[in-house]
Amino acid sequence: MSKVLIIGAGGVGQVVVHKCAQNPQVFSEIMLASRTKSKCDRIASQIESKYGQKIQTASVDADYPENVVKLLRSFKPELLINVALPYQDLAIMDACLECRVNYMDTANYEPKDVAKFEYKWQWAYQERYKQANIMALLGCGFDPGVTNVFTAYMKKHYFNKMQLIDIVDCNAGSHGKAFATNFNPEINIREITQNGRYYENGEWKEIPGMSIHKPVFYPEVGDKESYLLFHEELESLVKHFPEIERIRFWMTFSEQYLTHLRVLENVGMTRIDPVEFQGIKIVPLEFLKALLPEPASLGENYSGKTSIGVQVEGLDKNNQPVKKFIYNVCDHAESFKETGTQAVSYTTGVPTMIGAMMMLTGKWNGTGVFNVEQFDPDPFMEKLNIHGLPWKETTF
Ligand code: NDP
Repeated sequence: MSKVLIIGAGGVGQVVVHKCAQNPQVFSEIMLASRTKSKCDRIASQIESKYGQKIQTASVDADYPENVVKLLRSFKPELLINVALPYQDLAIMDACLECRVNYMDTANYEPKDVAKFEYKWQWAYQERYKQANIMALLGCGFDPGVTNVFTAYMKKHYFNKMQLIDIVDCNAGSHGKAFATNFNPEINIREITQNGRYYENGEWKEIPGMSIHKPVFYPEVGDKESYLLFHEELESLVKHFPEIERIRFWMTFSEQYLTHLRVLENVGMTRIDPVEFQGIKIVPLEFLKALLPEPASLGENYSGKTSIGVQVEGLDKNNQPVKKFIYNVCDHAESFKETGTQAVSYTTGVPTMIGAMMMLTGKWNGTGVFNVEQFDPDPFMEKLNIHGLPWKETTF
């Protein structure tokens, strides 16, 4: 029986609240806080009519630790689940430190003025979290999150040595809009317009954005052109499994999406530096976000599936060559029926709830700052099957 404070009432927040409310034996009291309180209230009324559970709501600007501290002091949760934006990570981690409350999130910190995400800022909290006797769990969505758990599971059960890893992420769904992003538009566009990066033979290799691509086979979807991107789990997996010789991340994009993105980039709409417009300063990407559909609004007519997994090639427990592929397929329409959001929010929010469950039930515990692959993957893998993201194993 635990109290949780969830910050962020977007697409992912909506799923996390639904999934926590479905498990009242673990999440006995829930507060949802976000910048815009009306979004929290809308989700709270869905929960009340669906599950009969009352969710408390609050308005908070989590850019400032003191605001989060105030909320923590009045609600006194055991765990804070951060599903706002990566910009707020450090402010929220500071607040948790001050109030000695456990912390988790789904995306690593990035500064607003540089499109660069890496774990160094959050890993730097290690000693302070240890001394405060609290735990931070970083990157517990699908990717990062489930992809790290899949990798840890393969290491535990099948591999002596994981040599080559490809994380493959396909959204073969259609939302019917000319252009929209499946999670926060600003964060999404910053991620895919930066240089690509992968790790090989002890070093990071940087490539121009979207310059390496190839068809990848996705179960239940088929072959899809996939683009090499940098993704944050590459950094933590290389740290925690130093045996890895090469690790890459691939994601699919439709031609239509790429054409829109190219035009937006070419006309300067994806810039993150302020420009002067009629006497005021505006950041083009922030303005573009205001024009694009909110990820939480995309669910209604979304059809098709996501298919995301991890392919590992290496040596098995008897040092024989082996290839394993673990993946999940998730249906947009079914996600919408259950939680009112599409599968990208769903596949992120379900693992967030499971990670919180692992912490609150003591299956995953410790003091300091952790990535999910540092814990026993088995109880998490078991819960994925129960809570809506069943996984399968094959070869490739
Ligand atoms: P949305 O844009 O739909 O929601 C973000 C929410 O955060 C909004 O409700 C927003 O409020 C709130 N917010 C923004 N700034 C603040 C602030 N200063 N204080 C309080 N609340 C704030 O994004 P998503 O739900 O799609 O994504 C949420 C997070 O999940 C992101 O960090 C994203 O990177 C991550 N993610 C992780 C994935 C994974 O697999 N690991 C996959 C997909 C997403 P308002 O509405 O007022 O702006």
